[in-house]
Amino acid sequence: NEFEDYFLKRELLMGIYEKGFEKPSPIQEESIPIALTGSDILARAKNGTGKTAAFCIPALEKIDQDNNVVQVVILVPTRELALQTSQVCKELGKHLKIQVMVTTGGTSLKDDIMRLHQPVHLLVGTPGRILDLAKKGVCILKDCSMLVMDEADKLLSPEFQPSVEQLIRFMSANRQILMFSATFPVTVKDFKERYLQKPYIINL
Ligand code: AMP
Repeated sequence: NEFEDYFLKRELLMGIYEKGFEKPSPIQEESIPIALTGSDILARAKNGTGKTAAFCIPALEKIDQDNNVVQVVILVPTRELALQTSQVCKELGKHLKIQVMVTTGGTSLKDDIMRLHQPVHLLVGTPGRILDLAKKGVCILKDCSMLVMDEADKLLSPEFQPSVEQLIRFMSANRQILMFSATFPVTVKDFKERYLQKPYIINL
């Protein structure tokens, strides 16, 4: 397989090649075409397999940069991972005009509210902070049609799970969910049963 096979936007393909990616990794080969069809995905994937690009590429492809609303939310359990993930989105999307925002606990809420006065297409962050912003009505998620959960096992720990479930209620009813998890504990299976529609399962 080749990245050309996915008929991606030319600007996105340029970003992929400039990052030095020549061919899709196995997880990318499985997830990119399926995610582009709009299907839900549950993938078992370790770090180092290329899983970040496996969800960032379809996310960037699907965003309409002329529509200044939040279209994709990428949930992660830590600030460090949020920063890394947003960096990957910015690099892959270097030639697109997609606005990426990072928001996590432990930083100024006021700054985030200010930032949200400017266009945001893709939001990367931790569940609690995004939920705060959604509840305040400063972050509008009703047009969010793709939710990515990276390290889903951690996002479904007691600390985060209630926020994740509340957040989903702010999103479009026909949102697509892409879940990536190193392990499949009962919390992940239970969440899959309740929220995913005929998910495509990737088990590499
Ligand atoms: P990740 O599993 O997302 O943390 O990615 C692990 C490493 O693989 C990162 O340094 C990526 O930049 C790199 N990577 C991801 N996809 C590809 C690819 N298709 N070709 C070459 N390197 C890649």
